[in-house]
Amino acid sequence: MSEELGMECGVFGAVNYEDQPIFPYIYWGIRAQNHRGHQSHGFLTYNEEKFHLHRSLDLVPKIKTSAIQEWFGRLPGHVGIANVRYTTSGKCDEKSLIKGTQPVTASRNGLKLAISFNGNVVNTIQLKKEIDRSFRGFSYECDSDLICHKLLIELDKTKDLSKAVKACMEEIDGAFSVAGVTQNGDFFAFKDPHGIRPLCAGHNENRTTFAFSSETVSLDINGLERDFELEPGELVRVSKNGFEREQIVNGKQRAFCAFEFAYFARPDSLFDGKYVYEAREESGRNLVRENPSIVKDADIILSIPETGDDSALGAHEASGLRWERASRRHRYVTERAFLLLSKDRRSTIDRKINILAPKVNGKRIIITEDSIVRGDTTKVTLAKLRRMGAKKVYMFVTFPRIIGPCFYGVDMATYGQLIGSKLNAEEIAEAIGADAVCYQSIEGLVKATGLRRDQLCLGCITGKYPTPLAQKIADEMRKRFLEGYEETGRLYEMEEALQNV
Ligand code: SF4
Repeated sequence: MSEELGMECGVFGAVNYEDQPIFPYIYWGIRAQNHRGHQSHGFLTYNEEKFHLHRSLDLVPKIKTSAIQEWFGRLPGHVGIANVRYTTSGKCDEKSLIKGTQPVTASRNGLKLAISFNGNVVNTIQLKKEIDRSFRGFSYECDSDLICHKLLIELDKTKDLSKAVKACMEEIDGAFSVAGVTQNGDFFAFKDPHGIRPLCAGHNENRTTFAFSSETVSLDINGLERDFELEPGELVRVSKNGFEREQIVNGKQRAFCAFEFAYFARPDSLFDGKYVYEAREESGRNLVRENPSIVKDADIILSIPETGDDSALGAHEASGLRWERASRRHRYVTERAFLLLSKDRRSTIDRKINILAPKVNGKRIIITEDSIVRGDTTKVTLAKLRRMGAKKVYMFVTFPRIIGPCFYGVDMATYGQLIGSKLNAEEIAEAIGADAVCYQSIEGLVKATGLRRDQLCLGCITGKYPTPLAQKIADEMRKRFLEGYEETGRLYEMEEALQNV
């Protein structure tokens, strides 16, 4: 049922050394990641020293058979990058969304760059000032522009991609997983020194096609084999000989976003040897182990498709309670509700999920849920269940209570929008109309991911952030928030928020 927040972007890029058009690869690759952002999409290919760009709003479109040749003609070349985006920086009006659509390009002194980016920059104000000195009147609608221009400035200074990437890694506070193409058609990718967002690499059977992708599902759909997940602080270049890996920055603490496992990534994606659905099923089993008295008092388990389904299966296995498929999804309302702009949110949730009254009438129900952010949509669903005669409704929530904003690409960027920033589990239960809200413990979640606690970002559930500026802003603004200060926008975009840090 989740809900309510937006995520950043999905990245896919590929090169083919048999001179086959790359467009089909990047088309299918990015379409498989539409769950990572549906406000806009874009493709960029490189051919004969030119970038060819198509960018548009909404979901990646279906392509009519009659229009295939037109698409090939518009996007020629054997190397390309693609992106799907949801806004976590910049404005959300239509004009700004169009302007902020990726991939983005930048050029200077005969150098040219195009990038597709996933993440979020925290020190935007400082970076914008710096870029403005080289590109007078620089304005941007997407952090991707900041990264692309910063990289280009450094490339212009050093004429060396490794040194340029190093400067970005050392001077940008935030999360960035990037795939890019240069004016020579060189194809590369890199990840921030904490490795907050995913980015993996893969190849085809005869090693003539190489790709980078936010999630492995896009490799699968293209028949590519996964090679590796990029290391934090790593730059990878591609040539006919395959991947050339270079560790640019060492020694920072790895901090992979734990929320990817709980919510964002597709269940059939693989991170570091573990499928996302496995982590979710294990979370369901953990919740049963952590809450025996609630399990004893319940008749059925129910999930709102699809994000709670895997943990519902785990909870069903561990408890023996029937997993009742009492809620059905409208097949053609494809938007993930959380991805919608706020004005559309509530109505879509009501329209896409239907609940079968006979299955819940008179029952004590455990609902498995991936997260509670604002709580407003959860409240709507619980009210619906009560109207249909549910006797008790308990919430099993995979992701622990969210107490602080995300600075790294998930659109929960203020304390005020988070129900968990002020209320504890009991108070939240009361506010949303549940008999109890049971969050998975942080230890349980960590164990379910298969990673160690010190390899994960848990910033929004612990208040401990991996990058210094994010930590300072979070601490300062939390203090102010608890004193009654009203946040007027995303914390990392508020000049005021940055004044005392
Ligand atoms: S703060 Fe939360 S949502 Fe953001 S990267 Fe860290 S774990 Fe993920």
